[in-house]
Amino acid sequence: MSIKNYEKFLEILTDDLDKMFEHQKEHLCCKEGCSYCCERGNFPFSKLEFDYLMYGFEKLDEETKDIIDKNIRKIKSKNLNSYTCPFLINKKCSLYKYRGLICRTFGLLSMSVDNELTIPFCAGMGLNYSKYFDKEKQTISYNLVQSIPSKHPPRPFNINLNNLMSLDILKELNLEFGNVKRMIDWF
Ligand code: SF4
Ligand code: SF4
Repeated sequence: MSIKNYEKFLEILTDDLDKMFEHQKEHLCCKEGCSYCCERGNFPFSKLEFDYLMYGFEKLDEETKDIIDKNIRKIKSKNLNSYTCPFLINKKCSLYKYRGLICRTFGLLSMSVDNELTIPFCAGMGLNYSKYFDKEKQTISYNLVQSIPSKHPPRPFNINLNNLMSLDILKELNLEFGNVKRMIDWF
């Protein structure tokens, strides 16, 4: 993996994502210390993302590495599909700079490869987009979007992983994401 090229890609992506988060900010509750999105999931990671995560892991101090190792062993022994990310320590990501694409996009509305609306699960917890969330139908209510005044109404972005992993810029940077599996299955 070319670290330099991947970091260049992340720089471009971060710039775009920052604009999306800024555009939707009136509907978002994300802040430091809120970590529900890291506490429950299967966290799909490609080979490239995982290698970059491990590149960051090597820079951590031994005590933090030990905590993470223990977390990984615990998750693997329980064999759960949904788990708390082993890198979450005291509600903070210990590898924030090196986190994956799923971690960078979580919180926004997006469209799946099948053109289905994907809603962050915290909408049902009174967090992101919750003003527009119809709990009964488990979706964003068109009627609520129409009736609640908003500077920038909720809108989905084309940021599903498949789309991000096939952007044209990747060819220019000679990057390939490779296999995707649950993060825990890379260990
Ligand atoms: S996406 Fe939801 S759970 Fe995650 S930080 Fe934002 S508000 Fe919290
Ligand atoms: S790598 Fe960091 S941001 Fe991503 S799920 Fe784990 S703790 Fe959360």
